[in-house]
Amino acid sequence: MSDPTTAGPGAGAAAPDAIVIGAGPGGLAAAAALARRGLRPLVVERAERLGASWRGHYDRLHLHTTRRLSALPGLPIPRAYGRWVGRDDVVRYLEQYAEYHGLDIATGIEVHRVERSDTTGWELPATGGRVLTSPVVVVATGHNHTPYVPDWPGRDAFRGDLVHASRYRDPAPYKGRDVLVVGAGNTGAEIAVDLADGGAARVRLAVRTAPHILRRSTLGWPAQASGIICRRLPTRLVDRAASYVERLAVPDLTEFGLPRPRTGLYTRVREGAIPVQDVGLIAAVRAGRVEPVAGVEGFADGKVRLADGGEIEPEAVIAATGYRRGLEPLVGHLGVLDERGRPVVHGARTPLGAPGLYFTGFTNPISGMFREMAIDARRIARSVARAAR
Ligand SMILES: Cc1cc2nc3c(=O)[nH]c(=O)nc-3n(C[C@H](O)[C@H](O)[C@H](O)COP(=O)(O)OP(=O)(O)OC[C@H]3O[C@@H](n4cnc5c(N)ncnc54)[C@H](O)[C@@H]3O)c2cc1C
Repeated sequence: MSDPTTAGPGAGAAAPDAIVIGAGPGGLAAAAALARRGLRPLVVERAERLGASWRGHYDRLHLHTTRRLSALPGLPIPRAYGRWVGRDDVVRYLEQYAEYHGLDIATGIEVHRVERSDTTGWELPATGGRVLTSPVVVVATGHNHTPYVPDWPGRDAFRGDLVHASRYRDPAPYKGRDVLVVGAGNTGAEIAVDLADGGAARVRLAVRTAPHILRRSTLGWPAQASGIICRRLPTRLVDRAASYVERLAVPDLTEFGLPRPRTGLYTRVREGAIPVQDVGLIAAVRAGRVEPVAGVEGFADGKVRLADGGEIEPEAVIAATGYRRGLEPLVGHLGVLDERGRPVVHGARTPLGAPGLYFTGFTNPISGMFREMAIDARRIARSVARAAR
């Protein structure tokens, strides 16, 4: 680990060639790729340990991208971790990865803002009044940065427990209780199954838009591999092929309250909605252990109001309602974000008028984010090395 003050002006030691903000898989991959090109990156991480997001995920979580297709540049994920790598092994791999590449990581330091500098390229005010400087900055603060709970009317008056899915670890606190999970993305679907398996008395899953559901793997062929093949194909073609595959592989759950989606799979991906990979949802819904209900409209008199006019009274609500990227305070003033708060570029490209500023981990492709971040890391390193020459 590094003494971060060495990255500040006048601290005595040479400034790093690049500062990478965030020690998740995206930042570590970018730093390793830079180091492999002979550059000296410094990774700055606000948490006390690397891989903070993965350390905080629920116990049951496994990658639903395969071990081989999730490896970061320069180090395979150990075979012993299995095909679908569990949360603890993901964290272990990230630790091994940083050590293997000898990465310089300064933990416990939050970068507050990325500012232009006439002399050093970029200045980064950070925890404790430090100002880090570097000609190159890689922003890797995460697509799932800030937990988001909709501002439902009456939300604050709800007497039951209401937590965001990022605070869910295991089903133990919900044993024997009536729980509503809101949001049928991968996280909501898996938490609902976990609760049903873990002894919750009743589990309902509030679904605003019916999700596409895919088998994680069919006859040994992972859904991720299809995602990689389809990624560059026309949207309508993929929509049609996916609809065929879904009808073959996934039973119709309409009678259980989960109709087939009306919008095509790839059209939804382009809108930002990744399909749900089945890790037990189909069986749980068919068995009545997870009951789909309409989306949540708000809360009133201790009850939850649903979009179909129904009212239910769960004891606990878990909001699997997504995250925001939270990039505005960091780089919003630089004009590098689009109207949805996403960076206008990623990978090797830098925004117009912001040379040396790179982003990784802010896209959500069906080919898998670990894989995407590995590709971006190599591209960023190539671009930085070329500019340094
Ligand atoms: C439940 C879940 C399951 C997923 N499963 C898969 C999967 O199976 N396969 C796949 O490919 N992808 C998966 N993803 C998506 C993605 O790969 C992960 O979210 C991954 O952790 C993203 O890596 P990252 O480095 O971009 O962000 P993160 O892992 O979130 O890391 C960002 C880091 O930046 C730090 N940070 C943030 N702001 C600052 C700041 N201002 N200063 C300093 N440090 C800062 C954070 O503390 C954090 O450590 C999953 C995501 C979730 C939420």
